[in-house]
Amino acid sequence: MRVAKRLDRLPRYLFVEISGKIAEKRAEGVDVINFAIGDPELPTPSHIIEYMCEAAHDPANHRYPETAGLPQLREAIAGWYQRRLSVALDPNREVLPLIGSKEGIGHIAFVFIEPGDIALVPDPGYPVYARGTLLAGGEPYFMPLRAENDFLPDFENIPKDIVRRAKLMWLNYPNNPTGVTVDRPDFFEKAVYFARQHSLAICHDAAYTEVAFDGYKPPSFMQAAGAKEVGVEFHSLSKTYHMTGWRIGMVVGNAEMINALFRVKSNLDSGIPQAIQHAAIKALNSSQEYILEYNAILQRRRDKLIQVINQIGLRARVPKATFYIWASVPQGCTSTDFADKLLNEAGVAVTPGIGYGKEGEGYIRFSLTLPDDRLEQGIERLLSWQGRQK
Ligand SMILES: *Cc1c(COP(=O)(O)O)cnc(C)c1O
Repeated sequence: MRVAKRLDRLPRYLFVEISGKIAEKRAEGVDVINFAIGDPELPTPSHIIEYMCEAAHDPANHRYPETAGLPQLREAIAGWYQRRLSVALDPNREVLPLIGSKEGIGHIAFVFIEPGDIALVPDPGYPVYARGTLLAGGEPYFMPLRAENDFLPDFENIPKDIVRRAKLMWLNYPNNPTGVTVDRPDFFEKAVYFARQHSLAICHDAAYTEVAFDGYKPPSFMQAAGAKEVGVEFHSLSKTYHMTGWRIGMVVGNAEMINALFRVKSNLDSGIPQAIQHAAIKALNSSQEYILEYNAILQRRRDKLIQVINQIGLRARVPKATFYIWASVPQGCTSTDFADKLLNEAGVAVTPGIGYGKEGEGYIRFSLTLPDDRLEQGIERLLSWQGRQK
């Protein structure tokens, strides 16, 4: 058989590779401590699970769901945006539930990208923005996110001929992998202005707005004036409610973009299992207190780990949001060499920055989503590894 050429354009998915290396080490008998994967290990709050179990027993939820999701779910999403972010959304035209936001992030490329079209993609960045673009036959243009510019893209530095061919621009704050947040309130408005000027659509990925520390409340792209005219925001219950395994997210904003994505999706999938939609309704409509509890746990882990990271000769800023620490490795060492060194010499797995793009070179990413005792063990190993150096 002959598979399509488009698959040749797809590198292996980053975490498939890392999981392979970790599995190899484990097979050798090493009890690897895994800081590599950003996947909350704290359980989904139990009232959400209980509600889901009840819904699972109801035969009405055993049948095909609608691609557009339950009306009550779309209302719950709009209600949450109103309460948390003061953003008004029409639940029927400006909200679409997704089978996890990754699904929508991948599929929206098929709404905009034709062969030869360009999507502007942050580098470093979540791999799916570029991979969706490639699958649709387009080309990603990587906008460098650099420390000297607070890890924001510099729109004015994108070559004119690239901007002319671009259909779509991806943004993501709070940012994976850098942990950076948008602190300049005018940044999103600048993005809207740039998009209008060049007839671009903006896709903002807001997966981490609720994973924040020290009382900080990250903004949403939808709060920017004019955002709804040019773009959409992808969001997810995965990181907010520690629900990665249940696969549920949403996209909100521009009605035309949402309707176009619905047309793609309705031909490919049949929506989200309804018991999970009911769980999401419960999560969005009930008390948000446990988010604070979970964030307090992550914040304690952040504070412990960041100290050690700086102690062992890496350099990292304290993230105000996301459960990642983005640390620069010593000069003269590649991110992959350094990650391999930590895995082989300390039994500690981290993600090499190069996996998020060229600009990720020189960095590694630590995730805080491992149990406290494992984190402590990891810290001990890093310190004793440091003691064995030179
Ligand atoms: C985790 C993550 C997502 C995807 O989350 P879903 O579980 O698919 O909703 C999207 N974007 C970023 C930046 C992420 O880190």
